[in-house]
Amino acid sequence: MRYLILSDLHANWEALEAVLADAQGEYDRIVCCGDVVGYGADPNRVTEWVRQNVPVIVRGNHDRACVGLDDLQWFNPVARRAAEWTQTELTPDNFQFLRDLERGPRELNGIALVHGSPADEDEYVITADDAAQLWPYLPAPLTFFGHTHLQGGFQFIRKQVRDVLKATTARETVAVDPEGWYLINPGSVGQPRDGDPSAAWALYDNAQRLLTFRRSRYDVAGAQRKIHEAGLPAALALRLARGE
Ligand code: ZN
Repeated sequence: MRYLILSDLHANWEALEAVLADAQGEYDRIVCCGDVVGYGADPNRVTEWVRQNVPVIVRGNHDRACVGLDDLQWFNPVARRAAEWTQTELTPDNFQFLRDLERGPRELNGIALVHGSPADEDEYVITADDAAQLWPYLPAPLTFFGHTHLQGGFQFIRKQVRDVLKATTARETVAVDPEGWYLINPGSVGQPRDGDPSAAWALYDNAQRLLTFRRSRYDVAGAQRKIHEAGLPAALALRLARGE
């Protein structure tokens, strides 16, 4: 089985469309680590696509916030404004779909999906030290996570934890060691934050045991225009161009 692993779509249709065009023919099944909506201006289009195409998904904190499952006072003003706007914008069917999303971890065929970390769906796993604390919680040899919007992740092998990806690149393939356990972030499709504005995603081929990190350039200006037209905070458009 070849998996297309997506996370943190954040209602950015232009980015998602570019990823799907690049990934065409390279996967059998799509999985998602959450944050379908929030920040971007296409919550309905992106949610409808997820409903039709992603059989296995876990909820993200923005998915909760945009359907009234969270108190918005914990969000910064920009994220909060976007969540409030998304709440009013979502169709009843899309709202219900997001409200019903399951909390991670979810497992399938030896891989697992979480949003933040296996221990806490809202935890940010950024450094190898953060990851080391999670060793007892790993639900599967290969766990995919999101939330940080940073492509890469960690390998746990012989009591050591190390980064699997050193720098942002156009494409990098990693051979998955059968003795290692992994916590892997495909990066964010809709709002990358590692200084590279191109959409981030990953492929995993479980027969070949190959993990590939990918980036896709997309119509950033188009996504920005929609953010402005929706009356969302300008900062949300700016950060897309900077990848931050
Ligand atoms: Zn996110």
